[in-house]
Amino acid sequence: MTLPPDLIQSLQSVKGFHESSFRAIHESGEQVTAIRFNPAKKSLTNHPFTGEPIPWCPFGLYLDKRPSFTLDPSFHAGAYYVQDASSMFLWEVISQLIPDPQDKKVLDLCAAPGGKSTLLASYFTNGLLVSNEVIKSRASILVENLTKWGNSNVIVTNNDPAHFNQAGISFDVIVVDAPCSGSGLFRKDPDAIAEWSLDHVQHCSLRQQRILDDIIPSLNENGILIYATCSYSQEEDEMIADWLMSSGAFEAASITIPTEWKIVETFAEKSNAPGYRFYPDQLKGEGFFIAAFRKKSPATAIGKGKSSALKLPQKQELEQVRAFFPVLESFSVFKQGDQFRCIDEKWYYDLQTLASNLYIRKAGIGLGELKGKDMIPAHELAMSTLPLHHFNQVTVNTEEALKYLRRQDLYLDAPKGWNLVMYEQLPLGWIKSLPNRINNYYPQEWRILKQ
Ligand code: SAM
Repeated sequence: MTLPPDLIQSLQSVKGFHESSFRAIHESGEQVTAIRFNPAKKSLTNHPFTGEPIPWCPFGLYLDKRPSFTLDPSFHAGAYYVQDASSMFLWEVISQLIPDPQDKKVLDLCAAPGGKSTLLASYFTNGLLVSNEVIKSRASILVENLTKWGNSNVIVTNNDPAHFNQAGISFDVIVVDAPCSGSGLFRKDPDAIAEWSLDHVQHCSLRQQRILDDIIPSLNENGILIYATCSYSQEEDEMIADWLMSSGAFEAASITIPTEWKIVETFAEKSNAPGYRFYPDQLKGEGFFIAAFRKKSPATAIGKGKSSALKLPQKQELEQVRAFFPVLESFSVFKQGDQFRCIDEKWYYDLQTLASNLYIRKAGIGLGELKGKDMIPAHELAMSTLPLHHFNQVTVNTEEALKYLRRQDLYLDAPKGWNLVMYEQLPLGWIKSLPNRINNYYPQEWRILKQ
């Protein structure tokens, strides 16, 4: 692997950079695999994996070997997420800076494919998470991953950061995991080396400033901005911290870290703002930078106040929906197109505001559609962390689970009507059992193709 000479040159005086060990780890071919469990779905003591815990994230685990995740049904059930261990440090950052997660409004601005968002969803379980991705095709994988994660307090939007200026909502926490030049991922993805250049670093730095400029008005006073990249370049890391601090709108927030974690604390040249660097030759994780800031002035984002795209169901429809699925009292049921959905009622007003101003890709949990007297349940409902115990359940083994996930024909002894397919106590989705066959309702677009 030939690392770009300009990158090596530019890092010579950067704290924590040691050329020989940095080169050696990139040459070694060593790969680190880590997963983060979904605490709403899987207990930490009941899984088949072996490995060391990740010190900065209570649900993180380094794996001794990399299994085929595609062929593990519990992966498709949202029991865990495969994520670089360095990125999981976000858990430590939010635990230290926002010790009370209750009722916080959180925006993950650059969210696809959803690594940080699934982590945020597990921390802010009583808050509202708006998870945004500007690129339409990438928003689909974000929806898929958050659907499988199952939390009901999540809204996925597909907007440019500038649109939030007029979205009529402000946030207590904003995470900007910015698009960057990607040098931190060279070990994992050597093909990315070809795209790296000093010009690209400069381009990314300007784009990062634009993104931050667009979103700062949406952060509340005393709100926390968390900025992260997977780049080693100071232009995208400490210099962005200096740029943010030069606005006068922020004070820097520091994190206490045990030295044995081998995370390198740096200080931006002009403002002295602390940042945290992850080098793969010093710890088990990819290259990563993260810094946090507390805002000193109020939010100034406004709303355009168009009418909302959401509709409330008619009384009779609501009765039919509730007969199929007794939605908890604390939830609001609403309609988007033909789909009935629900969200915690305390977030319904915010959802309406967002739906008036932004492009919503997913809000709360889809319950299903009415077809005459029948309700066709949504796959989202099966994936959700809502109580599903009153549905018929049929337990499958690994072979049957994989058949189900491939959308193949199944021969199961299931009671007539809708059944949840359960694998190791985790729902995989719906089947409808008819007198002479079983209809497989696993979503066509998510079916696994690997044999
Ligand atoms: N947070 C994600 C995770 O943990 O899975 C990874 C985010 S990735 C580093 C950066 C994201 O920013 C990409 O999904 C990319 O599509 C998006 N992006 C690209 N250009 C952008 C822009 N101008 N404004 C906002 N986001 C952008």
